Amino acid sequence: MKIGLFGGTFDPIHFGHILPVKQARTQLGLDLVIYLPTAIPPHKPGGQVALPHARWTMVELALLSDPGLVADPFELTPEKEAFTVDSVEHFRSAFPADDLYLLIGCDSFAELHTWRRWEELVAMVRLAVLVRPDWRPGALEAQLTPEVAALMGTDRVCFVTNRPVAVSATELRRLLATGAQPPEGWLPDLVLQYIQKYNLYR
Ligand code: ATP
Repeated sequence: MKIGLFGGTFDPIHFGHILPVKQARTQLGLDLVIYLPTAIPPHKPGGQVALPHARWTMVELALLSDPGLVADPFELTPEKEAFTVDSVEHFRSAFPADDLYLLIGCDSFAELHTWRRWEELVAMVRLAVLVRPDWRPGALEAQLTPEVAALMGTDRVCFVTNRPVAVSATELRRLLATGAQPPEGWLPDLVLQYIQKYNLYR
């Protein structure tokens, strides 16, 4: 099997977290993508607004209708930060014979050298970097450290182009805090209903 892993705070989950992943699933032929809602992300200290169980529920509601996209609570550990290398290690031993891909945004790839044990991470999993259709390898390479740039062109990294989705969770929270209705196509209806039922961002 080919399995993708996709971590995030999902505060809240929106179509920018879903449509590019669906495109990556098709392009890479992934049987399954496992979403990993993170209770405490190392790169965003103190930044998340909704409680972990609420962010988890929103991810479940958003993925409900798609059997190829599932959520796993491995990073839902409110007592400790979730490091991606630990998750990758866990799924590597859970699926020893399968092809594993870690789906990450271009920005995250440019920061890879700051991740804990990143060299071990890329030895265990292939990186599928989500890029815009107009991306230029040279421009991306210029943002990378020489060690990370050396991964480009190897079998450890592949690039998946996807149409950009103009939604950001930060902007969504700002809008929801004012009581305004988010524009059509920003997030799944069930997620919006859940947010409004519990006044999550007000
Ligand atoms: P925030 O605005 O709260 O920082 P975020 O969406 O950037 O939210 P996460 O929920 O951790 O943060 O995002 C998970 C992943 O989804 C990240 O790799 C991020 O780059 C990617 N992502 C977020 N928004 C979009 C979007 N509109 N299109 C494509 N990818 C996105």
